Amino acid sequence: MRAAVYKGKQHLEVEEVPTPTPGPGQVLVRVKCCGVCGSDVHRFQHGMFWPDLIPGHEFCGVIAELGADVEGWTLGDRVIGGGGSPPPGMPTGGHRAPRYTSRSNRSPTMSPGAYAEYIAMDAWRPLPVPDGISDELAALTEPCAVALHMVRLSRMRLGDTAVILGAGPIGLFALQLVRAAGAGRVFVTEPAPARRRAAEELGADRVLDPTELDVVSELVAETGGIGPDVVFDCGGAQRTLHDALEMVRREGQVMVVALAWDEGYILPVEWVGREVELKTSYGSTPGEWGICLDLMQRGLVRSEPLITPESMVPLDGIQRAFEGLMSPDQQVQVLIVP
Ligand SMILES: [Zn+2]
Repeated sequence: MRAAVYKGKQHLEVEEVPTPTPGPGQVLVRVKCCGVCGSDVHRFQHGMFWPDLIPGHEFCGVIAELGADVEGWTLGDRVIGGGGSPPPGMPTGGHRAPRYTSRSNRSPTMSPGAYAEYIAMDAWRPLPVPDGISDELAALTEPCAVALHMVRLSRMRLGDTAVILGAGPIGLFALQLVRAAGAGRVFVTEPAPARRRAAEELGADRVLDPTELDVVSELVAETGGIGPDVVFDCGGAQRTLHDALEMVRREGQVMVVALAWDEGYILPVEWVGREVELKTSYGSTPGEWGICLDLMQRGLVRSEPLITPESMVPLDGIQRAFEGLMSPDQQVQVLIVP
């Protein structure tokens, strides 16, 4: 089969590799599309994957072969590559070391991954995709669950004013999820024009360009001089955490999901006196994938305008797509089609 293999810092190569055979208790999935995750782009950019690894963990496909002793799946079933619950007594592998950091963890969520024509995995791992959800949207259940986990961990309550910093895939899912969770007004900040347009189409009350405006004073003014109740940092740019802490209201909450790889800048004297809360969110739980599929099926989470025809990139275009995503301009969400 053909697969994109990581060769070294900022270098992926499409190669012929052996097609995996599903072992006992495993299924072989033919990959239909695999979303490019921001964390994949960071690891590509900073040289943090293992050499010869096939990355990719946000995918939708069909069951193509069953290993021995597999029950419950039929050839052709449409699945996503995670969200299933392990059988009782089996360690999930989800345990993290006490001093775990995403930076020290060089192995991605799934290895080998799904920038490939086929992937073999334990049969309990995938979830079936309900009718009415496109392959492309289903493939993005994982990033949707990351945003959902953050919203569920937050203290946001019905009617709260929310601000989302950064309208990449996680920010655009967060926008839809805070709406579904009953946010009052929702503001988004984003420098890239295509992503600002996507946030507007998804119903943000106002979308601000942080390269044009002082977003802190604008959003404090928008909230009557008080500041937003909850600010979600989905951007991870040098200024986003600074802006989040400065704009949030007294005793408000800043949620950080973005994994910034560059040192930021904060000035505590500006916000310590308001007794604000700072909390991080990381990953998701298997049950949250199912919640996302349910919200997608009910139309509360949509794929357009995240996914456009230009989002779909053949395997051969993966190197260029990753290079482009290191400084996204026109791209909102890219999916690789093996
Ligand atoms: Zn991801």
